[in-house]
Amino acid sequence: MMACPEVQRRKSGPLARMWHSGLSALCLLALTLYLVVCSPASIAAAALPNWQWPVHPVVIARSFEAPASAYGPGHRGIDLRAPAGSLIYAPMDARVSFAGQVAGRGVLTLVPDTPGSEWAASFDAIETHLRIGELVSAGAPVGVAVPSAHCSCLHLGVRWRGEYVSPLLVLGVIPRAVLLPW
Ligand SMILES: [Zn+2]
Repeated sequence: MMACPEVQRRKSGPLARMWHSGLSALCLLALTLYLVVCSPASIAAAALPNWQWPVHPVVIARSFEAPASAYGPGHRGIDLRAPAGSLIYAPMDARVSFAGQVAGRGVLTLVPDTPGSEWAASFDAIETHLRIGELVSAGAPVGVAVPSAHCSCLHLGVRWRGEYVSPLLVLGVIPRAVLLPW
């Protein structure tokens, strides 16, 4: 934890008082930056987007399980029930940053079409005709679900500043969702 130097009020004239209050403000600013950048609450401090669900109806087959380390086991996303051929929709106005095969599965990655956005959403497994750089509108179909060895579902991964976070952070309230017991 950072320690702020103690600011003492002296009867030594306006210049010294200004110097001390400036130091105090600087200390407060540094503490605020520390809390915003370093604390786990940094995502909450960022403006959370409000995305649409990519499948309808929403049924969560498996929840997000944060890994203990960068390469540790976990589930870096949520699995949404999506029978083969189910339409998948863009959660936001977006640009395609990746569309192709990864380990034999079709993957599509969208990034918000918003300057400075640090979010990304990946869909796996998906069949899409979109190409890198194409723009899509929120709610527009972007492909269809394809069964994979992972599950008969759509795996949705959401990254913020490159780190996987729970997609529920940006998808908000689950409309009539069912959390399956497995
Ligand atoms: Zn999954």
